[in-house]
Amino acid sequence: MKFKYFESPELYVGFMDTEVPCDICRQSKMCFDGESFYGTQKLGAICPECLASGKLNELDSFTCDGDLKNLKGQLRELHPNLTDEEIQHIAGQKNFELEKTTPHLITWQDWSWPCADGDYCKFIGYGSKPFYQHLAKDIPVEEFFKSSFYKTEFYQDGLWTDAVPEQSIQHYEDSNQYSTLFYVFKSLHSDSIITMWDCD
Ligand SMILES: [Zn+2]
Repeated sequence: MKFKYFESPELYVGFMDTEVPCDICRQSKMCFDGESFYGTQKLGAICPECLASGKLNELDSFTCDGDLKNLKGQLRELHPNLTDEEIQHIAGQKNFELEKTTPHLITWQDWSWPCADGDYCKFIGYGSKPFYQHLAKDIPVEEFFKSSFYKTEFYQDGLWTDAVPEQSIQHYEDSNQYSTLFYVFKSLHSDSIITMWDCD
């Protein structure tokens, strides 16, 4: 199952322990836990097919919070000849798609889903030294890490040395052992890598 803004949710979100009836289609399947979704309509379980196909659209339920303000700013810069109304419309559509069809990323703190190049980014995994090394290619890795921060004010000296895990984090269960986590996103339209981070 492919998700536009989330790579390999079976690894980075995981399913509930056993097959359960999906709250939407009622079929017994491996489902995502809906308990931590936002909105007034509470879901217990939703299958990947129902989530991906937009079955949340009709419900007051959403899985994340997009950084809509920044998205509009990026779209305005990219398309200076579009009217405010057109920008609102494009940004609103992207925001709706993100918040309604993206698996829920478990984080320590609440923060908005980052955007780049006029679109929301795709979550591609948890940050670790080997993962950043792989992504940095020829760029010195610490420099690459620093420049990947979504907002420069989020960066702190010492993070690379003291807080970025030495071992790669293969799935969400691995992530549980860290009280500081780095979340790595990729632009859908360029090679830009974006880092978010938080701690408990
Ligand atoms: Zn379903």
